Parts: sequence; C-alpha cells; structure tokens
Amino acid sequence: MLSRFDYVKPQTLEEALAYLAENAGTKILAGGTDLMVMLRRNAQMPEHILDIKSIPETRRLDYKPQEGLFIGASINVNEVAGAAMTREKYPALAQAANALASYQIRNRATLVGNICNASPGADLSGPLLVYDAKVHVANSQGQQTVAIHEFFTGVKKTVLQPVDIVIGVSLPDVDAADAVFLKQARIRGHDLGIVGVAARLTAAKEFRIAMSAVAPTPIRLTRMEEQLKDRPLTPELAAWAGEEAAKSIRPISDVRSSAEYRRHIAGVLVKRALSQLLAAGGI
Ligand SMILES: Cc1cc2nc3c(=O)[nH]c(=O)nc-3n(C[C@H](O)[C@H](O)[C@H](O)COP(=O)(O)OP(=O)(O)OC[C@H]3O[C@@H](n4cnc5c(N)ncnc54)[C@H](O)[C@@H]3O)c2cc1C
Repeated sequence: MLSRFDYVKPQTLEEALAYLAENAGTKILAGGTDLMVMLRRNAQMPEHILDIKSIPETRRLDYKPQEGLFIGASINVNEVAGAAMTREKYPALAQAANALASYQIRNRATLVGNICNASPGADLSGPLLVYDAKVHVANSQGQQTVAIHEFFTGVKKTVLQPVDIVIGVSLPDVDAADAVFLKQARIRGHDLGIVGVAARLTAAKEFRIAMSAVAPTPIRLTRMEEQLKDRPLTPELAAWAGEEAAKSIRPISDVRSSAEYRRHIAGVLVKRALSQLLAAGGI
C-alpha cells in the first residue's frame, strides 16, 4: 500500500510550530534522503508531512568570530562541505561532509537530518561531538539548546519530541584547525561507515575523539581523552591510542561488518587519525 499523507510547507517558524502542536502524527521533511526511504518501505506511515525548507531561520549558514558557526536545518551537506569557514576552521566536519554518500545525495541531505535520523553510523555526528556542538530546538512553548552529547539516546532515538523542530546546530569558535575525520565503508559514496572516527587536538592541547557505528549512539572516548591529556603526541602514543580504542568499544556484527572487523578497523583509524594530527604539526 502506498503511503497517503497531507503535505504542508509553512513559510514561517511560528506557522510550522503551531501545525506540529495541532497535528499529531506529523513527520518533518528536510532533504528526505532518509525519510523517503522509510515511506517507500512503509516503515513509517505519517498522516502529515511538514517540509521545513521555506522557514527562514533554517536557511542560516554563518560564522561569527567568538560566537562560531551556525548551520541551519535546511542547509544541505554540500553547502556545509563547501563553506570556506567549515574548511578553514572545522576541517573534521568538512571532511565528514565530503565523505557522506554521493554528490547528488549531499545536494539534498542536511546535516540536521543526519543527526535527527540518529543512525549510530551517521557520518556527521562524530565531528559535531569533537567540536562540542549545540542543537537548537524549538516548539510552540519556546526554544532551548541541547548539547550534542546529550542529543542521542539510542539507535535511531534522540531527545526530540514530536512537537520539536531543530532549527540548526552551532559550533563554538575554535582557535586551532587540528582535526581529522576518517571513515571505513564498504562502498565509497553509497554507504554508512563501518566505523567513523573524528579526532581533534584543541588549542589547549587536549584530545577529543569520537566514533560512529561502534555503539548504539555515536560516542566520545572520554576516558581515553583523559589518559591522553598532557602526553606529547608521538607515533608511539598514536599506536597506544589505537590499541586502547579497539579495547574500549563493544561493537556489534551487522550487514556491514563483523564486530571483530569493526573493532580492528576502529583501532587502525584512531592510530591513523592521531598520526595525521602529528604530521600536521600537533604536539
Ligand atoms: C544512497 C544513500 C547513501 C547514504 N550514505 C550515507 C553516508 O555515507 N553517511 C551518512 O551519514 N548518511 C548516509 N545516508 C543517509 C542520509 O543521506 C542522511 O542521514 C541525511 O543527512 C539525512 O538528512 P535529510 O535532510 O535527507 O533528512 P530527512 O530524510 O528529511 O529526515 C531524516 C529524519 O530526521 C527528521 N528531521 C529532519 N530534519 C529535522 C528537523 N529540522 N527537526 C526535527 N527532525 C528533523 C525527519 O523527520 C526524519 O525522521 C545515505 C542515504 C542514502 C539514500
């Protein structure tokens, strides 16, 4: 049976929030690259579809010194990847955006849709975790921000309620550009990662390491970050971190990979990520 639903495309945030508050069973549509797959499989049968792309607040993509980068919910992944400020200041995010699917998909897919869909293997979650991003959420009662590490609650689950719209995501201003994203996938351009690793060395020389596809949600390896603190980055430390990372995760086997291969490749990618930070001048 084909899905049947009402389609609305409000022009203002107020209109959209009022519609959501009044119509239970509404699903938000951004790029549709995840949602359309679910509709086609009848895996979701919403009564209403609310397209957010005409809402002006979701079209913002701007960087302000001291404040940082704001990426609106209608900004597609190619726009994120191509923005000069993303490439200069937030290279792990730019690299992850370039690694997501194919150019055509990236022209539709949004960064916000990627995290709202909450796949454990979503590429853009790791970089957002290492940059301590904030998710800006609105509903008819008001607006709030949620730290990205509190946003994911399980496989395909977030803190969002059916009446909520994510307006966008903000990343704090950063001094150093030392960061890297690495991904192992079965087929480049057509698949979620078997493992994704984002690693960052902050201006205060602290490590931030996040991984996707190795747990029910994207995770930060905070215990290992603590252990790495104040230790000079050397090839030996990169190798140690790779081994520790592989030991500290509990991945599952699924259609993309066995747990054993995931664990192995997670260690390889963490070692490689830290080696790249070292080669780029990290200490
Ligand atoms: C062929 C193919 C290859 C892919 N490869 C990759 C890949 O390599 N890496 C990867 O990470 N992903 C991949 N994906 C998944 C996908 O492209 C992303 O998850 C995409 O970023 C989702 O964004 P969207 O705008 O299309 O979201 P939509 O499909 O529009 O929405 C996704 C979900 O988020 C909700 N949502 C969207 N926007 C909001 C909002 N503002 N507020 C609240 N809820 C919202 C929707 O209701 C829906 O549940 C692939 C998809 C396809 C079809």
